[in-house]
Amino acid sequence: MAQVMSSEIIGIGPHRFKMLISRETIQEHLLQVADRLREDYRDKRPVLVGVLNGCFIYMADLIRALNIPCEVDFIKLSSYRDGMSSGDLSLTKDVDMDLTGRHVILVEDIVDTGKSLGFLRQHMQDKNPASVVMTAMFMKHCFTAVGSPVEYVGMEIPDEFVIGYGLDYAQQWRQLPDLYALVEDK
Ligand code: 5GP
Ligand code: MG
Repeated sequence: MAQVMSSEIIGIGPHRFKMLISRETIQEHLLQVADRLREDYRDKRPVLVGVLNGCFIYMADLIRALNIPCEVDFIKLSSYRDGMSSGDLSLTKDVDMDLTGRHVILVEDIVDTGKSLGFLRQHMQDKNPASVVMTAMFMKHCFTAVGSPVEYVGMEIPDEFVIGYGLDYAQQWRQLPDLYALVEDK
């Protein structure tokens, strides 16, 4: 059961999370990404492919800020993390749309090691799109493990476990409007 100690700190079971980035700051950075994407995709009717589950809040905010003709589809990877540990990658839901000749924008909540990104980019390329780029609201490293760039990054954040703004802890807490980071016990 969660215990709200203040809006800055929440207690979840044995863990404490501290507010890292406010909703206002997230929106400021999101608008900058939307401006760049609008400039680059205005006449391309892109397909935004969201990576479930974490993308849904970023996707909803992004397409409204973007406000250009576009289509939306979703893809799902196997539960990569349960709680805070990582596991193997596999696809549990593919896109429904034919992406041949389309301009694809992959929409991720956060990039950490870049493993998911590398996997998804290859998977998308196999569908013969006109182009594939990736946007992530948060990014933990400037250069990812697979050496693949993320073209449209909302914000770089410290290498900490975070929740809120779509990101979960054991499938919960995605609804938090701000981003919170785990406070390590000393
Ligand atoms: P990567 O493959 O880049 O290491 O990890 C990407 C995926 O792991 C993200 O799409 C996200 O679902 C999950 N992930 C990475 N870092 C975090 C984090 O700090 N918190 C949460 N809740 N999920 C994360
Ligand atoms: Mg994700």
